[in-house]
Amino acid sequence: MKTPIPFYLQKILNGVHDHDSGEVADYIPELASANPDQLGVALCSVTGHLYSAGDAENRFTIQSISKPFVYALALSELGLDAVRDVVGLEPSGQAFNELSLAKDHRPVNPMINAGAIVVNQLINGVDSSVEDRVEKIRSFISQLAGREVDVDKRLCDSELEHAERNLSLAHMLRSYGIIQDDAHDAVLSYTSQCALSVDVRDLAVMTATLANGGRQPVTGEKILDADVCRMTLAVMSSCGMYDGAGRWMTEVGIPAKSGVAGGLIGTLPGQIGVATFSPRLDEQGNSVRGTAIFRELSSDMGLHLMSTENRFGVHPVRSVDEDDETAIIRLQGHINFTATEAILHELEERQFSGKRLALDFSQVSGLHKVGRRMLKEGLRRLREEGNEVALVDDDGLVTDRAMSDGTVLPLADKEDYVIAGEEV
Ligand code: GLU
Repeated sequence: MKTPIPFYLQKILNGVHDHDSGEVADYIPELASANPDQLGVALCSVTGHLYSAGDAENRFTIQSISKPFVYALALSELGLDAVRDVVGLEPSGQAFNELSLAKDHRPVNPMINAGAIVVNQLINGVDSSVEDRVEKIRSFISQLAGREVDVDKRLCDSELEHAERNLSLAHMLRSYGIIQDDAHDAVLSYTSQCALSVDVRDLAVMTATLANGGRQPVTGEKILDADVCRMTLAVMSSCGMYDGAGRWMTEVGIPAKSGVAGGLIGTLPGQIGVATFSPRLDEQGNSVRGTAIFRELSSDMGLHLMSTENRFGVHPVRSVDEDDETAIIRLQGHINFTATEAILHELEERQFSGKRLALDFSQVSGLHKVGRRMLKEGLRRLREEGNEVALVDDDGLVTDRAMSDGTVLPLADKEDYVIAGEEV
């Protein structure tokens, strides 16, 4: 059976495809010429399963999405106290290019330009050349992505030609003694960081690394401490969405960061990383269709961080018992989107065929509606592949057993699915 997750991602893309409001960022000439219709999404679980749909391999510049990752690098090189000495931890509620400083002249918010220019300066030590600093960041982002990423020189040069605003921020920061490099070098280094070229698959894996306490889920490499990931995600959740951060957290509830090239990342700690790409931006500078996708994921898939249903700690497949003819997959816990993904992945791996197969819900405490829909789709596919499928569901958790092909999933007695020698 092929897991239906990419099919659901495609469905979500189809649902937002016609949103054509918003404008591509035009203050960087190279960004103004981006094709506004590009649309892609990728999702990576902390177990390293990566799914995508749409323009998932189109490259774009990371822009402000680099900020949480470089912040994490600074935290791991220097620790929170040293980082906090030069940049605060508060949402500024101001636009990305605002000079928003505390009374002592430290930038308030590390996720907007003034703060991010300061954080960039911390990397590789105060005496680092711009070249070495950028290389350190490039190689760190490459480790997170699991492939070598490059600086898009054209984009970087194009932004540097019109960098008056960031240059003025850097001049001010230097005049207050917050940064040491001259303004031009500081902006060159920061702009190079923003011009790293990625796709949504890279970003989903990078984001899943934060969700996974610093272990890159595909390569298995331990890159960051769990404490650093926790602090970074906390800052993303309060400061990540420019001046729309409070509303975002209330309505969408997924710690997120957007960039002016149209990328958007979101992460659910311990569960998944998601990335979208669509270049048209709203007034706050967040991708219009990316925001719509995240809203959909949050409400439809129950991914709001503050949702009291968002519990997923144990492996949702308690056991799989099978003999030549029969297989029973015993589930447990609360089946939210992340648990559903894990179950479908297990069903895909097992390659059942010609079995009498049942999903046992006896130990399931709750089932989200998208979980129900996707599991039914998985069972429909298993049936198409020659399995006879049924549910063990005495408590009636699967309230709607109608399948997309018009048939109704049959209920089975637990006793009919006991495999010789198994302990139920
Ligand atoms: N390089 C961009 C700038 O500094 C990044 C802005 C963003 O993505 O928010 O203007």
